[in-house]
Amino acid sequence: MNILEKSQSIRNREKKASDNLEKFIDRINKHNPKINAFVELKTDEALKNAKEIDNRIANGEKVGKLAGLVIGIKNNINVEDFHVTAASKTLENYIGTYDATVIRRIKAEDGIIVGMTNMDEFAAGNSTETSFHGPTLNPRAPERIPGGSSGGSAAAVAAQMCDLALGSDTGGSIRNPASHCGVMGFKPTYGAVSRQGLLDLAMSFDQIGPFAVDTSGIALMMDVIAGKDSLECTTINWNVPDFSASIKDMQDSLKGMRLGVVQEFFDVSDESIVNIIEDRINQMQEAGAEVVELNFDSLELCLPTFYLINFVEFFSATRKYDGRKYGERIEEACGDEVLRRIHMGSYISQKEYSGKYYKKALQARSLIKKEITGLLKDVDVLVGPTVPKLPHKVGMELEPMEIYAYDILTVMANLSGIPGASTPAGDVDGIPVGIQFQAKPLEDEKIIQIMAAFEELN
Ligand code: GLN
Repeated sequence: MNILEKSQSIRNREKKASDNLEKFIDRINKHNPKINAFVELKTDEALKNAKEIDNRIANGEKVGKLAGLVIGIKNNINVEDFHVTAASKTLENYIGTYDATVIRRIKAEDGIIVGMTNMDEFAAGNSTETSFHGPTLNPRAPERIPGGSSGGSAAAVAAQMCDLALGSDTGGSIRNPASHCGVMGFKPTYGAVSRQGLLDLAMSFDQIGPFAVDTSGIALMMDVIAGKDSLECTTINWNVPDFSASIKDMQDSLKGMRLGVVQEFFDVSDESIVNIIEDRINQMQEAGAEVVELNFDSLELCLPTFYLINFVEFFSATRKYDGRKYGERIEEACGDEVLRRIHMGSYISQKEYSGKYYKKALQARSLIKKEITGLLKDVDVLVGPTVPKLPHKVGMELEPMEIYAYDILTVMANLSGIPGASTPAGDVDGIPVGIQFQAKPLEDEKIIQIMAAFEELN
């Protein structure tokens, strides 16, 4: 039974919301102490919600699209009455005073929020090891990182501790942990989903998006969270498709689909990953898709451009954590990576250096965007690995540049605002490997359709 079918069976009284939740609570009690995917839980309140939904269904009252589904939320999205720490000691005592727009929409559709998930401090990372709450382990390869920065959300879904989860993606933080944990993760077009109530990492890149074990779950969550928000001026006023309806009957839908295969994506990836992705592309070709070989000359510009802009925007976003409003001054409470970014961001932001670094980075960003738009012109999607390497062992010491290199295939979607997804492609000795699909701005539906068609090939 997929996630959509499960939600229907709850609505049809074949299944109870409270039973669904209780099963997850058992798994959370059993596995969370080791995996550390959830950093705060409100199971009693969730059970009260679930019972109330069961009662409404029993009385024939109308319930929302997410009725009875159990959801985890990344710890940088405001949920009223939960601690919203962004995994930083800086915000240790901050409790959400309101619901972010995406949370209001989830609650309005009767989704059950069971807890907050772990992440890298302020979402600045890709391993979930820099959390003030301790690292999360990868449920599929327990001595390894789950990826990040939304590692808790990916791990919670992978370990079957909830139906769906939300993450945020600034340079890969949804797609990277989805790839490492063997689940699906979707980063919408910039502006397709409201960021209102999300703690910024770099606001010109940040997007909220869903995790699920199947495409129906991704589509269902997008149906709920996507669309214009009058509270958030960067949201786009667009015709939000009915994602759940658009993935029905996907047999034969790969026929004639044009897949852009960029040589450079494979050049930077480990051989074991390349082999899996090439096999899966061949399989899509056998199902009728057409492969178009492409080159992306600006690939090596992507990481420096992304990180320069990231440091400047992050530095500016952290100025409010000055110890007056939120208790602790960020520079005194944060970990090494966050402090490094504050120092770098402050240096680059100085007036005399802006021409040297920041302005150049903005020019490079335009160039990258232009080249990606060109690549996407004649194809439906770009296809390739999500992450060029397998997740490393927890605790392994890496230089900042080695850590940033994990993001080389994911940052381009944020630099150019396009949608991107990672979906399971296979494994190397049990360690999951994801395949990434990217499309033109606002072609989020196309990606989700391809994910559904790809899912049926398995
Ligand atoms: N790994 C990248 C960074 O550290 C992106 C993180 C993210 O997407 N939140 O900034």
